[in-house]
Amino acid sequence: MGTIRRRDLLAAGLLVAGADALRDGARVHAAVRDRGNSNLQIGGFRGQLITAKDPEYDAARAVWNGAIDRRPLLVARCGTSADVAAAVRFARDRELEIAVRGGGHNVAGTAVCDDGIVIDLSAMRAVRVDPASRKARVQGGALWGDVDRETQAYGLATTGGIVGHTGVGGLTLGGGLGFLMRKHGLVVDNLLAAELVTAQGEVITASAHEHPDLFWALRGGGGNFGVVTEFQFALHAVGPTVMAGPVFWAADDTIDVLRFYREFAGEAPDELGTVVRLGTVPPLPVIPRELHWRPAIAVACCYAGPVQEGEHAVRDLRRFGAPLVDLLAPAPYAAFQGALDDTVPRGWHYYWKSANLAGLTDDAIRVVADHAYAAASPRSYTALFHMRGAVSRVANDATAYASREVAHNIVIDGVWLPDESAEKAEAETAWVRRFFQALQPNSAPGVYVNFLDADDGASRVREAYGDRNLRRLAEVKARYDPDNAFHHNKNVRPG
Ligand SMILES: Cc1cc2nc3c(=O)[nH]c(=O)nc-3n(C[C@H](O)[C@H](O)[C@H](O)COP(=O)(O)OP(=O)(O)OC[C@H]3O[C@@H](n4cnc5c(N)ncnc54)[C@H](O)[C@@H]3O)c2cc1C
Repeated sequence: MGTIRRRDLLAAGLLVAGADALRDGARVHAAVRDRGNSNLQIGGFRGQLITAKDPEYDAARAVWNGAIDRRPLLVARCGTSADVAAAVRFARDRELEIAVRGGGHNVAGTAVCDDGIVIDLSAMRAVRVDPASRKARVQGGALWGDVDRETQAYGLATTGGIVGHTGVGGLTLGGGLGFLMRKHGLVVDNLLAAELVTAQGEVITASAHEHPDLFWALRGGGGNFGVVTEFQFALHAVGPTVMAGPVFWAADDTIDVLRFYREFAGEAPDELGTVVRLGTVPPLPVIPRELHWRPAIAVACCYAGPVQEGEHAVRDLRRFGAPLVDLLAPAPYAAFQGALDDTVPRGWHYYWKSANLAGLTDDAIRVVADHAYAAASPRSYTALFHMRGAVSRVANDATAYASREVAHNIVIDGVWLPDESAEKAEAETAWVRRFFQALQPNSAPGVYVNFLDADDGASRVREAYGDRNLRRLAEVKARYDPDNAFHHNKNVRPG
């Protein structure tokens, strides 16, 4: 077995601490060969090992945000929990930096690191549904599109993200917002159990009955506590046809639409999940061509109940003002969940900032209307999630996720293309920051950890959890990962 230790590589001059990483997989192999081995191997690992000498290396290290360009020493693509355990032990023995990759969607790019090992779950995407008990077992590298597809075959669903190619792993461990959350709770409120590989390389299960302290931490505490190889979720009857879709109005109507929406959303039944999207109309085939790229505000709806009830629930929204286009209609739930997939493709460059809003005050609405359309790129957008309902009926300290009482969660997404200039990137980043700053007087305490970007450091992690939940997370961290092996994330330090 290859015995690469970070300190050996440093001593050999192959790895320069903090700077010139070991950039060439061939040199890794050379380092191993020099010790009498011809191949890099991990004992007990039967997955795929990818280094810089493999043709797949660039694809394997790429994440959803194309602005992230990191070069791991190796990518360990796992097929089973035993592979994950072997990779964790290998990395720990050699003091290698560890990154864990679920769907690869984290905007901060935490799924990939420089110099270290990526424990890659992208080949572990199986979803098994037990319709009798209304439960699903979902492997740690699955995407939400996988879950919606398999569960909808039985007319079932659980709360999941609003874009089908987002990973179940990261999204769940941060809390999990989605169209069904007002009726069925956050994703973590539907989590029944998680099988995970600990920092010691052991496979354990956390649930309300086994390791309950760990189970509490996993429900919002992110990837700090181990590598989850399987999630078990509660399912609910949803669809398969639901009343769903967006209504668009011209950007000039933003203030009026948001004032109306404030009342409409405030009185909406729990079944009605809505997300407001501000930016330009995405050039999707279902939208009339003449509207493409036009600045507009959209309210996307999904009614988690009978279609007829849904039609009634959205009636006033559709009648408000003069919509540019109304795409609300009975639709297959799984198709609706994938409707936004092409608007945020893999490989474009992204920068985000997010805030909680206690409510949509007139001042908050004015700030949103002033800034939402001021981005230079037509691809940049802002999303406003309507929270409350079942989310806020769970106590803030019942799970690690701690922003349950807020009314809205806003995320400002700067987007530019990979071949666009550095000036363009700076302009989009500056727009996001300006907009975020302007919202500050209207923001509520807390922030959603999964919407934090790379420059959101320890103070924002504290903000995400609040002092009390963070203290408890740190205690659990000290029990399960005292050396902070899993720190390439929005880190909770062992307390
Ligand atoms: C286009 C888009 C849409 C989104 N929509 C939503 C939404 O509707 N609702 C919402 O709540 N969030 C949403 N998000 C945010 C999303 O929750 C985060 O980006 C999340 O990190 C994605 O999870 P992932 O597995 O794809 O990420 P990855 O980048 O693979 O992982 C992020 C981190 O999570 C941890 N992690 C991932 N998988 C595991 C695992 N199996 N075991 C242990 N740790 C793991 C690791 O620490 C990793 O660094 C969206 C993001 C994007 C880019």
